[in-house]
Amino acid sequence: MNANSRQVLWKKEPYIFEQGSSGREGISLPEEDEDFSTQNNPPLPSHLLREPINDFPEVSEVEVVRHFTRLSQWNYGVDTGLYPLGSCTMKYNPKLNEEVAKLSGFSFAHPHQPEPLSQGALHLIYELESFLSEITGMDRVTLQPAAGAHGEFAGMLMIKAYFADKKDARIKVLIPDTAHGTNPASVSMCGFKAVPVKSNKDGIVDKDTVASLMDEDVAAIMLTNPNTLGIFELNITDIADIVHKKGGFVYCDGANLNALMGIVKLGDLGIDIAHINLHKTFSTPHGGGGPGSGPVAIKNILSDYLPVPIIEKREKRYFFNYDQPKSIGKVKSFYGNFLVCVKAYAYILTMGNSGLREASKTAVINANYIRTKLKNYYHIPHDVICMHEYVFTDKNQHEYNVNTLDIAKRLIDYGFHPPTIYFPLVVKQALMVEPTETESKETLDNFINAMICIADEAKNNPDLLKNAPLNAKITRVDEVTAARNPILKWKRD
Ligand SMILES: *Cc1c(COP(=O)(O)O)cnc(C)c1O
Repeated sequence: MNANSRQVLWKKEPYIFEQGSSGREGISLPEEDEDFSTQNNPPLPSHLLREPINDFPEVSEVEVVRHFTRLSQWNYGVDTGLYPLGSCTMKYNPKLNEEVAKLSGFSFAHPHQPEPLSQGALHLIYELESFLSEITGMDRVTLQPAAGAHGEFAGMLMIKAYFADKKDARIKVLIPDTAHGTNPASVSMCGFKAVPVKSNKDGIVDKDTVASLMDEDVAAIMLTNPNTLGIFELNITDIADIVHKKGGFVYCDGANLNALMGIVKLGDLGIDIAHINLHKTFSTPHGGGGPGSGPVAIKNILSDYLPVPIIEKREKRYFFNYDQPKSIGKVKSFYGNFLVCVKAYAYILTMGNSGLREASKTAVINANYIRTKLKNYYHIPHDVICMHEYVFTDKNQHEYNVNTLDIAKRLIDYGFHPPTIYFPLVVKQALMVEPTETESKETLDNFINAMICIADEAKNNPDLLKNAPLNAKITRVDEVTAARNPILKWKRD
């Protein structure tokens, strides 16, 4: 044994199938006696009896508990440390909001419960829609879509329905080259043609570029703001004017609202329709396979096309209104992911207006703090004041033959989840850091120090980075094979 033995044990955790020994059992029950005799309790019918399982682990209870506890500790989450995954807003979400969503009145509410017995839930949905309308500066909100990409799809369907209604056969949607991949995907799923818009050297969209592409075949421009480089689209109001003059809509991908809450209202920027991600900004974590919620906020011009049912209030009673002849229909069963909405509602009420503004300000300050502390070590392609996240590259490390993946992998050894890498696609070898507002200055400083150490190691010991991570059970995986041909079952060789 030495000081490293814990780590060694941790790395050598055997499979459960390799543990225990023949005859060992997880529980001890009394030997069969009179009371348990087959006389009073006839034996189970043979067709219900399990066949013996080959190689079934024979382990004690404590072996099982320790094994799975150790496995659980290999996991990395926001509850264990900084998770600076750009474009994902992996912030800490107060446990209080989980408790609220767990209240039985919410969690056991049956979606078929009649309206008179669902007044509390309907009230919550109705109010959350109005809170989100206020925060985004828009007129109406639907909470039905289950994710950001789903919100984009629903939003684009509304735009499509509008033009179909007006007998205007527009086919194109302008999308900047900085956009999230879901944008062109949603647009083409709705039958539109995505037209790329080149961003300028400052990483934002020029109004002249938009003017040169804008014609009466264009249904909408889809702008992300702040964009995926973490930069505010400064020309957005001029761009909105250009698009509106030709009868198009301005769609905002507002997934990154964490930089704007209580500071900028999308509606004031000339935006007609936007989706936001409750599972980034509003107390549900992004990632992990859901559930999520991607509400769509609209100006009144699109209200006829909202998905049904719409929740309305008459004489203090809430009810579902399905009578919307121009609606795009339903995009999700029942009324979206209700418990995600409950958490967002609790979050907004506990934060209040000033709390939300403070959260966004802190998110922006934290990102800029890291950016300025690291700019002498890592190349920043667009070195301007950023919003909630920023993008740097491995360019300064090229001469040592160290790349983005090596830097990201080495961060694991320092106890941090790596940032988003190789995205956005417009930046070669990108690393995208989003620290969020819930991290303390001490945590940010630890991250900065780790990054500086890694820059130093790149220079003096590049092989170390090539082999990183050294302190993880699984180090480098063949990601293509893992995605295309996953092996998820243990087999004895
Ligand atoms: C996260 C994100 C999306 C997609 O949201 P999902 O809920 O993962 O579908 C779209 N656009 C941007 C800018 C995002 O950051």
